[in-house]
This record gives sequence, C-alpha cells and structure tokens, in this order.
Amino acid sequence: MEKETINIVWFKRDLRLKDHAPLKAAAESENPSLLVYLFEPSLIHDPHYDVRHWRFVWQSLTDMMVKLSEHDLELLVAYEEAETFFDRISDQYDLKAVYSHEETGIDLTYQRDLAMKMWFETMDIEWKEYQTNAVQRGLMHRDGWRDTWKSTMDEPQAEPNLDQLHSVRVSDNILDIINTSIPNRFKEETGYFQTGGEEKAWKLLKSFIHERCSDYNASISAPGPARTGCSRLSPHFTWGNMSIKQAVQYADEHYDDAPSKRGLRSFRSRLGWHCHFIQKFESEPRIEFENMNRGYDDIRREWNEEKFQAWKEGTTGFPMVDACMRSVISTGYLNFRMRAMLVSFLTHHLWLDWSKGSLHLARQFLDFEPGIHYSQFQMQAGTIGVNTIRIYNPIKQGYDHDPDGEFIREWVPELSEVPRDLIHEPWEMSEMEQQMYGCRIGTDYPAPIIEDVKESYKHASKILWSKKGSNKVKEENKGILRKHVKNRR
Ligand SMILES: Cc1cc2nc3c(=O)[nH]c(=O)nc-3n(C[C@H](O)[C@H](O)[C@H](O)COP(=O)(O)OP(=O)(O)OC[C@H]3O[C@@H](n4cnc5c(N)ncnc54)[C@H](O)[C@@H]3O)c2cc1C
Repeated sequence: MEKETINIVWFKRDLRLKDHAPLKAAAESENPSLLVYLFEPSLIHDPHYDVRHWRFVWQSLTDMMVKLSEHDLELLVAYEEAETFFDRISDQYDLKAVYSHEETGIDLTYQRDLAMKMWFETMDIEWKEYQTNAVQRGLMHRDGWRDTWKSTMDEPQAEPNLDQLHSVRVSDNILDIINTSIPNRFKEETGYFQTGGEEKAWKLLKSFIHERCSDYNASISAPGPARTGCSRLSPHFTWGNMSIKQAVQYADEHYDDAPSKRGLRSFRSRLGWHCHFIQKFESEPRIEFENMNRGYDDIRREWNEEKFQAWKEGTTGFPMVDACMRSVISTGYLNFRMRAMLVSFLTHHLWLDWSKGSLHLARQFLDFEPGIHYSQFQMQAGTIGVNTIRIYNPIKQGYDHDPDGEFIREWVPELSEVPRDLIHEPWEMSEMEQQMYGCRIGTDYPAPIIEDVKESYKHASKILWSKKGSNKVKEENKGILRKHVKNRR
C-alpha cells in the first residue's frame, strides 16, 4: 500500500497556537500535517530539569488540545526520543517536511538537533526551522543587533489559519507504534506553582499592562511584593506560551492607556534583555560548562559539600537566604535581585564554584531558560570580568527588601515569633529572647554557617580584583566562540 505523504509540526519550547511560523507553514502546505510534542526521556532525566517543568508543559499542551479540538484538530503527545519517534513515523508515512522553531537550549538539545539534522538529511526529509523571537542563528558578531531586535519586533506576527490546516488523525496505526503513555506525575495539580498555557499567559500580560505595571518599579527588588508587581510572564516565555513579539506589540498598542508609562518602559526593555542574553548564549554555549572569562579558572578550587547542602536546602542560618531558597523550592519563582543574592552567597560568601549551584537553581526555576540562566549566573558569580562584580550582603538585603520580616516569617516558620528588629540577625538574640520567641539558635534554627559576612566579602573581593588583568584571556576565548558559532549553523 502506498504511504500517505505528510508533514510534521514538531512543537518544542513554543507551546502556543498564535504567532507560530511552523504552524502557519503547515497550514499553507498542500500536505496534511501531524502536530506533535515529544516528552524526550533523555531531557526529562537531565539534571537541569524537574517534574515542575513537565507539569507546566503538560498544562500548556492541554490548553492547546482544547483549542485545537474546536477546529477539529488533534495533537499527538508522545514519550519518545526524537530519533526513535521520527524513525517509526517514517516507516508508516511518506514524511515530506518537518517544521519547528530553532531552539537555543542546553548542550543536550543542541546535540539532539545536530543528530536530527543529519538523520533528516539522510532520509531526504526537509527540516525547516524558524527563528525564535529575535535570536539569530550563526551570528558572528552583535553589531547592530539592537536595531535588528527592534525591526523584528515590528514585523507582523505569523498567524496560522487553523481552519485551513489539514491534520493527520492520530489513528490506531500511530498509537500501535508510538509510546503515548505520559507519566501521571506530569498531570498532577501544582499547588503553589504557576500554571502553563496560552490563556494564562494572556491573562497575566493584560493584568500587568492595564493594572499591575504601576507597582513594577517599586516592587521589583523585594521578594514578597515582586510576586504580584512583576509581570510573572517568564515561564510562559520560556515554554513559548507567548512570543516576545506578542508581548512587545501588545505593550506598544496599549502604551497610552497604561497606568504607569515608566513601569511599562522598564518591562519592555527587559523583553529586549531576554533575547539579548539568549543571543549571547547562542554564540557562546560553552558557558554552560566553563567560565565565560577563563582567567577565573583557578579560583574556587575547594569544595565544601556541607555548606553546599545548607545553601541548597535553605538552612544556612541567614534568614533572607533561607527564605528565598525555600520559597523558590516550593513555588518555582523568585525575583531577580534575590536570585542574584542566592548566587552571590554561594559563590562569594561560601566561595564555592557556581556550576553545581546553577544546576540546582535550574531545577527550581519554573522559567529555566538556559541563555538567561547561564549568563546571569556567571555575571553574579563574577566570572565574566571584574567590572561586573556585585557582592550582596545577605543581612542588608533583608533589611532593605523585607524590612518587617514578613517574607522571612512566611518561609522560615522557625522564626515566626521573632520580632522585626531581631529577625534579620537572630543570632544576636539573648538566651532569654531565644526562649521567649521559641527559637533556640543551633537547635530550632541553624547558627550561621559563616562567621562574618564582612570577612567573606573582603576575601572574595580581594581575589576577584586581583584577577583584573584576566580580561586578556577573552582574546583566547574568541577561537572557541567562532568554533561554536560555526557548529550551530
Ligand atoms: C542567577 C539568575 C538566574 C536567572 N535565570 C533566569 C531563567 O532561567 N529564566 C528567566 O526567564 N530569567 C532568569 N533570570 C532573570 C530574571 O530574574 C527573571 O527573568 C525574572 O525574575 C522573571 O520574572 P518576571 O517574568 O516577573 O519578570 P519581569 O520583571 O516582569 O520581566 C519581564 C520579562 O523580561 C525578561 N527579563 C527580566 N529580567 C531579565 C534579565 N535580568 N535578563 C534577561 N531577561 C530578563 C524575562 O523574560 C521576564 O519574563 C535570572 C536571573 C538571575 C540573577
């Protein structure tokens, strides 16, 4: 029997039905298309990811399936490695073309894409990849990048006509050969975590632009108020429930009626940073594994597992650090400043290498976006260059951004009875105060794991500044940069 000729739309981190160039191309093709998302076991077991991410993906897929069903369309969700999946499908069908977005991801997805590129070529299947947001593949330098970002944001959105799309029905033939059983833990309710889906993303964008942006600048650095004052769109951008262009264009259309033009402008500039950092990572993916500036390779050589565990679990004895860590473990979210403080505490005060810490926080951040994450992590760890070194004092951050200790009390219940003037330095409590407030230091709540943050500040600062000449190492890095750019083409 002759095989049916089909195309495939391969959804990755672009889980939406609007402003979607691959879906538009499929709708305009004369061949029927199979719409597919793959939960890839290798990615699910990768140390960057946690079940929280796959729940968000599952919620996003469910949202898409409901909308697709209104157009009598289906989405195939499989639990397969990419090559196994495409191999099996091409046994059954004459697979003509695969449409997807380019992905700037961790090394694992990059290697998978290289392998798939070869496989599609061998099988004479066209793989058409479309640019994601304003991130350009194979860019040799970033001169003029800002102007290109602006012009990309002004371009019309790619609107797929779903009524025109002729989709391949997910038949028994497919179900017989493809593993479609999705682990139940991906389908569980997520309590404190944000829920995935296009619908949720639009609700957040609208409430931010029409109401919440007036609190943006005042709340951005404080972990409690940031939960409602910031847009909270990051996981939706990471998993592609909304494109950056959709957000920019909506913000521009509603600029005149926004309650705070300043808030809206600050938000809009961060949408540019989003693409900027991913673009940097696209050209320098090696920063997943090594210092951006190799001149810092010989620092932080010693490891202390006990201190690392205390940081990971939020039991350092520094209330603001512990509250932030426990909150991100339970909710998947933390504002920018407090993410920076956690990294600063790990790398400057505990003087531990950043790499294991970056994996731990990648698993916690629901919005884990490799390009932003690795660039920011290294920036905060001071491994980019001395001009960017910021060493946060975790005690001062508490006084500045949680003056009454409300956020701390929410996440560190051991300190719930401690009054505001003692909550940021509970080790200063007398024996009697410890008894009165039900918190004995060293028993109910840990004693601080470092003696003096002023000393650890001095130590870190001295070593990092002594590396001032290390910028010359950047010259050597250029060769590595070019090699990666060439590979990604
Ligand atoms: C160590 C560290 C790791 C980080 N890891 C990630 C990550 O994995 N994924 C991620 O999306 N953000 C990351 N950030 C950046 C930032 O903290 C989050 O984007 C932000 O807190 C998300 O909340 P929001 O959506 O309410 O942001 P808003 O303040 O409302 O900003 C809107 C959007 O702009 C972008 N954005 C905001 N701040 C930045 C920034 N500094 N750099 C680049 N883009 C930005 C995000 O897409 C965000 O959703 C990291 C920051 C640090 C210090």
